[in-house]
Amino acid sequence: MALPTIDAAYLLEFLTGLLNTPSPSGYAHLAVEYTRQALSAFPELSLSLTRKGALLAVWPGERNDAPRALTAHLDTLGAMVKEIKPNGRLKLTRIGALIWNNVETEGCTVFAHNGKTVRGSLLTTKASSHVYGKEGFDLVREDENMEVRLDARTASQDETRQLGIQVGDYVAFDPRVEHTNGFVRSRHLDDKACVACILAAVKALHAAGLKPGQTTYLLFSNFEEVGHGAAAGIPPQVVELLTVDMAAVGDGQTSDEFHTTICVKDSGGPYHHGFSQRLRQLAEGHGIPYKADTYPFYGSDGEAFWHAGGDVAVALIGPGVDASHNYERTHLEALLSTTDWINAYLLS
Ligand SMILES: [Zn+2]
Repeated sequence: MALPTIDAAYLLEFLTGLLNTPSPSGYAHLAVEYTRQALSAFPELSLSLTRKGALLAVWPGERNDAPRALTAHLDTLGAMVKEIKPNGRLKLTRIGALIWNNVETEGCTVFAHNGKTVRGSLLTTKASSHVYGKEGFDLVREDENMEVRLDARTASQDETRQLGIQVGDYVAFDPRVEHTNGFVRSRHLDDKACVACILAAVKALHAAGLKPGQTTYLLFSNFEEVGHGAAAGIPPQVVELLTVDMAAVGDGQTSDEFHTTICVKDSGGPYHHGFSQRLRQLAEGHGIPYKADTYPFYGSDGEAFWHAGGDVAVALIGPGVDASHNYERTHLEALLSTTDWINAYLLS
């Protein structure tokens, strides 16, 4: 069976909007709502929110004797206000495995608890080269030495509090989305790129008048970057969980920005061999070019479900993303191959 045509323009448009929707873990509801609205265009899906705030879609299939699930996460790295400093600037605590060097000088938005937003940027405490010279260069990029400079007139704790900012307010870093020659460059392609692939797969089957081979649950989780995203939310009758998350590109890796990749093993150990083998056979049968790889510092929502006691076969596929958890980049070729692979699995 030929795979349905993917609407690449739709994939990129949805992805760009999602990337521009801030969603640090714990504050992902705007991205959940953005995705819910996009999926509401497909009446064959029944949508609901889990109590934890994840988005769950139920997609009736040709059969329902071995239901399946796919998952991808909507949350991203980010930060939270830890202290308002005497100079009115903000000391942060990191959300997820954020490395300060990767967001130094980045623009950010503070989501004050009263609903207001305040713009700013992340700097070291010795940011001016003309004042601090080598001291600024040598400064270790750790919590103590980083601060948010707010784009508001404040030079004291009181003035910052008057802006509505308090300890515990969320901070999201600007994604800086750019498209050039098929490349998509942005923060948080992990894992918004894969959410976009799943939506493009839904749209492709919908447009072709097809339904999945088995009833399929789509879980868009909201706490993956802190380790427990899909620990809850996968219905108990599900027999297989396909986790769709980015592939790690770097020295010694087979993954690249132009391919979709199956992850055979990561920090949490091997994925399900039989399920992974079936996915590889599907890719080969449909002529989908793919890589197989292992990721040295990586965990996934599939493993979160396993650790929570989920009795399912779990496999992981996704597009190669360069400079992951940094200023990331992938290519449309990898996104389309990932979507083809999802479609091949859905229709199998
Ligand atoms: Zn991820």
